[in-house]
Amino acid sequence: MYDIVIVGAGPAGLMAASKLPKSLSFIVIDGKEKIGYPLKCGEGVREEEFVKLFGRKDYPFVRNTVHEHEIIYKNIHRTFEAEYLQIDRPRFEQWLAKDFKDKLRLGIKCEDVIIKKDCAEVITNKGILKGRLVLLCYGCNFKIQKKYKLMKKNPILLVCYGGIYKNHKFDPNKFYAYFDEKYLGYMWIFPKDKNLANVGFGTVVKGLNVKKAFVDFISEANPGMKLVSSYGGIVPCSGPIDKCYYDRLLVCGDAAGFVYAGTGEGIYFALESGRIAADVAVKALNKDRFDKGFLKRYGELCDKSFGKLMKAGIVFYDLQYLALRKKKVNELFTLPTNKEIKMMVSDGKIPFRAKLLWYLYRGLKKVF
Ligand SMILES: Cc1cc2nc3c(=O)[nH]c(=O)nc-3n(C[C@H](O)[C@H](O)[C@H](O)COP(=O)(O)OP(=O)(O)OC[C@H]3O[C@@H](n4cnc5c(N)ncnc54)[C@H](O)[C@@H]3O)c2cc1C
Repeated sequence: MYDIVIVGAGPAGLMAASKLPKSLSFIVIDGKEKIGYPLKCGEGVREEEFVKLFGRKDYPFVRNTVHEHEIIYKNIHRTFEAEYLQIDRPRFEQWLAKDFKDKLRLGIKCEDVIIKKDCAEVITNKGILKGRLVLLCYGCNFKIQKKYKLMKKNPILLVCYGGIYKNHKFDPNKFYAYFDEKYLGYMWIFPKDKNLANVGFGTVVKGLNVKKAFVDFISEANPGMKLVSSYGGIVPCSGPIDKCYYDRLLVCGDAAGFVYAGTGEGIYFALESGRIAADVAVKALNKDRFDKGFLKRYGELCDKSFGKLMKAGIVFYDLQYLALRKKKVNELFTLPTNKEIKMMVSDGKIPFRAKLLWYLYRGLKKVF
């Protein structure tokens, strides 16, 4: 039996594994065949938080640093400050995994987790793995959380399509977001340098041809860009699930809904929840306590670390959705001050005017 079985080798699972003492018996399983691939991401990460986690930012996989974001809607161009890094995510994940390669098992897919009194059984396509504790870091999947009643509602999903493009015309010192009320979503352009950019589009409209909408956006923004490689993926966009722990189980990253709902940004929250999960897992092993009463501290620590940002993200999501639905995008991007945008996106503080509007919106939604 392993001390810990980690399901999923994305940012959450890799971060957790990288923080565990190598003397522990743990294993990381993933259904994919190669760490970091396939890429399904815009690769933008908060700079300050990244530096807090890794001590510095001058790693070879950090391709660009930007301090300015530009929002584009028809003829409105709005810029505001926000500090982000553009990373090469496959190389970043390979770097995260470098110290525990012997504990990685790829091509193993988790089908279920069965919690027993003396262990947790991870049922996989290649047999059963037993662990004293399981870290569920399997991305935007919710089957096991639903089975253990850790969530009441299905999450809202942002469906994305995009790719790496060359020959872009954008300023490499900025990140760009294009909006159009037709799509209830946005297109991002995150330059890596003067030539390459990660470009993608996400929407919450069910049944929309996401690839077609993306191609329309591109032809408007920069028709000369050339596709190098494409990706598609989904990200949960309605905030954390009700509970991110159970007996012998901690849920991290996207699987716990730890995504800034307003933008679909989840790398940092996956990394931070993985770090906290590793810390709590070591304490649980030391005390031989794997009950939900003990593991509750994982939920509390995540909430303390980034709970405010999660709440601000939900408000930001709802107000964006409302503006796009009601064709008030002009107001969405002209009314908030730069200070208010920074409060919502970077500091996790909800400005008074946004809070007021949000309570009204939520109240009316309940009534009608
Ligand atoms: C198109 C797109 C663009 C995005 N852009 C950004 C961005 O620019 N910035 C940002 O911060 N966030 C972005 N996100 C969100 C971000 O990618 C996620 O929040 C982040 O990857 C979550 O990390 P994770 O480790 O929780 O999950 P994942 O990265 O999804 O990793 C989960 C791992 O589990 C594995 N797995 C899944 N099911 C099983 C199973 N049953 N058994 C075993 N293994 C399994 C998967 O193969 C995967 O390796 C984007 C998401 C998408 C889809």
